[in-house]
Amino acid sequence: MWAPAGGHKGRPYPGVAMPSYQVESKLQSDAPRALVVHCGDHRFQAAFQEFLNRVLGLGGNYDLFVVPGGPQSLTLAEYLPKFSWASWRWFRFFVDNHEIDRLILIQHEDCAWYKSLPVHLHTSSEPRERQEEDLRKVGKTLRKDFPQLQLELYFAAWDGKPQGKIEFFPLVV
Ligand SMILES: [Zn+2]
Repeated sequence: MWAPAGGHKGRPYPGVAMPSYQVESKLQSDAPRALVVHCGDHRFQAAFQEFLNRVLGLGGNYDLFVVPGGPQSLTLAEYLPKFSWASWRWFRFFVDNHEIDRLILIQHEDCAWYKSLPVHLHTSSEPRERQEEDLRKVGKTLRKDFPQLQLELYFAAWDGKPQGKIEFFPLVV
């Protein structure tokens, strides 16, 4: 149940005024323009947002599914079936409940999640190739399951320098 600012019954801590924080952003009332899936790595969040909002023109109006490894969570059917099941459930929730017509999946360079995965899951041991393999794998499934949706796959490459440049490369399924 929704409670007014201040917490339970407005008085969680007697005698202590709880601050609230009003922000400039307003509620998005229009249907989302896309569903986006990417990793939660803090180093890439500003770049993801800039790419999505300014380059792709989403203007802050998209559903977002963030987990370590991003789209990789949708490929885990054999290795981690429960993770895979939950990921698809969450993913489909947005597609089924919102007027999504565009899917945007992003992988990023130097993703620590991939370092935690056994190498045998992929045909290559090269990190970027493993990630692009997963993107294409998920992309093929999405093309089959959601042929009516526009699908976009990207790899966010980093030049390897501290505070270095990030460049987004589209992938073809
Ligand atoms: Zn990552």
